[in-house]
Amino acid sequence: MHEASIAMNVLDTVLAECRQRGFQRIEAVRLRIGRASGILPDALRFAFDIAKADTAADQAELHIELVPLGGHCRDCGHDFETPERVVFECPHCHGNDFSVARGYEMDIVDMEVN
Ligand SMILES: [Zn+2]
Repeated sequence: MHEASIAMNVLDTVLAECRQRGFQRIEAVRLRIGRASGILPDALRFAFDIAKADTAADQAELHIELVPLGGHCRDCGHDFETPERVVFECPHCHGNDFSVARGYEMDIVDMEVN
């Protein structure tokens, strides 16, 4: 299960950060996840809730911001954004000379500590 290992990584990162900065508890964690990343937010939330038990983050809420897939088309010069998980052609001119700029990320934005 892909999401379980991601949840563990996120948890390890925020727990280490929390310890390093001398805080006791993590109240919330904000993540930014690209729509094309293949990560399922619900599965990630579920995995995180299991993983956080008996840690300083056991009450932490996970906030997930989904980033749409987007890029730039070299054929028509438009920047585009799509609700789809994959992009095969530019939504403006249907050309296929484009670059994808976002939609694959998995970043920890910040966290609330106490
Ligand atoms: Zn185009």
